[in-house]
Amino acid sequence: MWLLCCPCSGKGAALIADGYHARTDGLTSLAVVIGALGVWLGFPLADPIVGLLITIAIFGIVWQSARSVVTRMLDGVEPGVIDDIHHAAEHIPGIKIIDAKARWIGHKLHADVAISVDQDQPLSQANKIAASFESEMFEHMPALAAANVRFSSGEAEHDHPNPRGHLHG
Ligand SMILES: [Zn+2]
Repeated sequence: MWLLCCPCSGKGAALIADGYHARTDGLTSLAVVIGALGVWLGFPLADPIVGLLITIAIFGIVWQSARSVVTRMLDGVEPGVIDDIHHAAEHIPGIKIIDAKARWIGHKLHADVAISVDQDQPLSQANKIAASFESEMFEHMPALAAANVRFSSGEAEHDHPNPRGHLHG
């Protein structure tokens, strides 16, 4: 089971944005060197062209970062987070996700998941399933700070705006 663990990543938007920044810093330094080299080799236009390219690159980074920040402000999570919750449930036999929600609080994820289990089993068994699902979620989502797992009757709840939350097999 553990060895099958799949593309399970729990990268937050902040980490991703940091990655973009690091990459731009590297590209920018490289571009400046190329620009200087171009001027030195007798292409006076190399410098302004490189400047323009850097500007375009920086706008691209700002756009990408801004998009994830805006998603956060609208209280949304990346679809991958909901996928991670569903993926964690796939490790637990006999569990069905009725509804999965998650939100960022700072750099920490809070998940709220409604599950249903076989109604015939004793409560102690149902609680055990919920507990192992919870630890499976923590295993798959390093940014997860709190998980609220509750039992639901099995009727799908259609009150969340993320249609991808319903892609369960
Ligand atoms: Zn996994």
